[in-house]
Amino acid sequence: MKRCYIDLSYPIEPSMPVLPNYPPVEVTILDSMAYQELGGARRLNSSRIAIGLHTGTHIDAPFHFYSDGATFESIPLEQCVGQTTLVRLSGRGSFAPITPQDILAYRKSIQQTGKVVFDTGWSKMWGDPAFFLDHPEITQETAELLLEWGVHLVGVDFPSVDRPPFPAHLAFLGSGAVIIENLANLKAVRTERFYLTALPLKLVGRDGSPLRAIGEEI
Ligand SMILES: [Zn+2]
Repeated sequence: MKRCYIDLSYPIEPSMPVLPNYPPVEVTILDSMAYQELGGARRLNSSRIAIGLHTGTHIDAPFHFYSDGATFESIPLEQCVGQTTLVRLSGRGSFAPITPQDILAYRKSIQQTGKVVFDTGWSKMWGDPAFFLDHPEITQETAELLLEWGVHLVGVDFPSVDRPPFPAHLAFLGSGAVIIENLANLKAVRTERFYLTALPLKLVGRDGSPLRAIGEEI
């Protein structure tokens, strides 16, 4: 059977939008030597990139907010891969809160999957300066309810699950849950339940990682 994967990540490149006061992605060419054989088409390309770990589509580890929090080399793969509940709240505007009322209908599915992703429609603002500032947020009450239901992964299509003093970040990461921010293209997922693969780089002792997130309808 042909499998159909949906790309849920933004492209990574120097011109991509980043948080205000955050460093842009930098690419350095280490080698780009052309060979004369094969009509000159052969080349040795080798480069390095410098990237803030919370750039584009990325995942937060508990260490992001807790000095004794878990980091990716020890986070089990099952926490980042598996059946996921998609909560569709299309058309959420600036600063819109995601409240317990928004998730009650999904309770059973969320309890079964332990992974939940919110599609608020905010991704249409990608590239607009307001994207990073006026985004929706998950309230503390909602975060606590999700944790009570056993959630160990929460994903959103906006750049941060909340803003200072970060009650949702603190609740999720303090309970060992991971957070995925800036998911792209969630509208392409048509089913309420889908299979998510969202693997961080195996970065030792760090707080975040860019990732290639993919969805598969089940
Ligand atoms: Zn982050």
